[in-house]
Amino acid sequence: MNKAFFLDRDGVINHDKAYVVKKEDFEWLPGVFDACKRITDSGYLIVVVTNQSGIGRGYYTEQDFADLTHWMTRELQGKGIPVAGVYYSPYHATEGIGHYKKDSECRKPGPKMILDAANDHNIDVGQSVMIGDNPTDMEAARRAGVGRMVYVGKKPLDDDAGVAVADSLLSAVNKVLDNPATA
Ligand SMILES: [Mg+2]
Repeated sequence: MNKAFFLDRDGVINHDKAYVVKKEDFEWLPGVFDACKRITDSGYLIVVVTNQSGIGRGYYTEQDFADLTHWMTRELQGKGIPVAGVYYSPYHATEGIGHYKKDSECRKPGPKMILDAANDHNIDVGQSVMIGDNPTDMEAARRAGVGRMVYVGKKPLDDDAGVAVADSLLSAVNKVLDNPATA
């Protein structure tokens, strides 16, 4: 089976400017390419799991998101970093419009994006890692049974059981891969 790093997008890969959808607004965080290269070189898959309620709220379309995702993954690919999958949830329980108004298990803290990715890519979640900047990222990982979690956010965590802390994606990746059993 494969093992993976599940990465949140906004606030982990790029600056979270709220509802980023244009590549001009997509600002890579420092160290992201080095972090992703190390993940790849260590034999893990990279899977992005991102809440995108901006779609459900009508701020942008699924096609807009797909276009940005295509650009983002091509930039990474060009640096020798393949992305196995990008999973997103367009729903929001109260603010979604039409069929996007839904309390979905896809939307983190629901575990479904992670579980779907695991199923699609034959990933052993227990041997995998989640890195996120929102408490809901940690909760989604916990519910999915992800083995290790690293939090790079600012909001206090209600439940920090099993969660390591780092200040960036690169330091999170280094923490995990430098400490195979304990980070
Ligand atoms: Mg985030």
